[in-house]
Amino acid sequence: MDMTADQMPLRESDWTVPVYAQLPVEPIRGDGVYLETRDGRRILDLYGGHAVACLGYGHPGLLDALRTQAETLLFQSNAVPMAVRAEACRALAAFAPEGLNRVFLVNSGAEANENALRLAFRVTGRQQVVAVQGAFHGRTGAAAAVTWGARERWYGYPRLPFQVSFVPPDDVAALTAAVTEDVAAVIVEPVQGVAGAVDLSAEFLAAAENACRASGALLIFDEVQCGMGRSGYPFVAHAVGVNPHVLTTAKGLAGGFPAGALVTTDEIADRLQVGDLGTTFGGGPMACAAISAVIKAILEENLMEQVRAVSERIRSTCVLGPVHAIQGRGLLLGLRTGPPARVVRDALLERDILAGTSGDPNILRLLPPLTLGEAEVDRLARALKEISA
Ligand code: PLP
Repeated sequence: MDMTADQMPLRESDWTVPVYAQLPVEPIRGDGVYLETRDGRRILDLYGGHAVACLGYGHPGLLDALRTQAETLLFQSNAVPMAVRAEACRALAAFAPEGLNRVFLVNSGAEANENALRLAFRVTGRQQVVAVQGAFHGRTGAAAAVTWGARERWYGYPRLPFQVSFVPPDDVAALTAAVTEDVAAVIVEPVQGVAGAVDLSAEFLAAAENACRASGALLIFDEVQCGMGRSGYPFVAHAVGVNPHVLTTAKGLAGGFPAGALVTTDEIADRLQVGDLGTTFGGGPMACAAISAVIKAILEENLMEQVRAVSERIRSTCVLGPVHAIQGRGLLLGLRTGPPARVVRDALLERDILAGTSGDPNILRLLPPLTLGEAEVDRLARALKEISA
């Protein structure tokens, strides 16, 4: 029987700009670490919507917080103080490294980095930035300018807004030489996510702190992807014992509700004035309720301990089949594959397991919910064993 036009299912690609190569599955519901698709498949989600779904799907604490806040007050801006925002900022400051006590809430990772850089220029009065080769910091003007390969791949504007020098990952000498007294900020992803879960050495990260403290530049840790418990610690800064001046985070921050944040010291915050930073939606009550619920769940459900144990199990049981080695931290892992990672991702998806690719064609990226259990790791190992090397 032919369908009339109004009976045909809507096709997303007919109505959107063609900027995403989408996977051939349509999730309609989520439950824990599983996605249910329109055609009835149940898919183990090891990608978490680019690391966003840190509590998985249907977490009762997160849902209750959002439901209650929606029924109470859906939105008010930073023009007024709100207890729900005070609590989210208090919780995030307590979760952040020692000394980072003051929060500015935004809506995304790029926006958090944009504001962190703006803050660094304002506070130092300097005009240059040092970034790391391989880094990804977002697609807005300043964030894209400090992203590796910006001119060729990411930058859609006529010119870069400031001078950026890139140093190779883990090259302490190059980093130290680059951080002169003209440098406003060094921006670093302690685990480079888009690059393929490249974990920078603790030595390099400590050298970045030392160079910044010696020159008066600000050290910005971009923990948009690797933060919020994903490394097995609140932030990678805790794991490596390095104290940035500014830390940015987003993705898992509100467990799926859009939110980003920068967290900084009292001293830096006190140098800002009314109007220096701003946003309409950032710090809205729904995002704030979600941020508090996410941090509460991570702490009360011992998810960081679970992340460390599950990560260890992946590392010890999943180097098999097409996987030759594993890099990264916690549940931001890069599985080095013999065949192209894209081919392995497709083979896993045929077996109802969703994983991601990365900037490295031979790195398959895992960014699962922090609630992932050991049984799911065993399922991944069984699936990998079936895929040819
Ligand atoms: N920084 C890092 C490390 C990221 O991985 C991303 C996104 O992948 C961003 C910044 C940009 O975040 P958003 O896409 O929320 O703007």
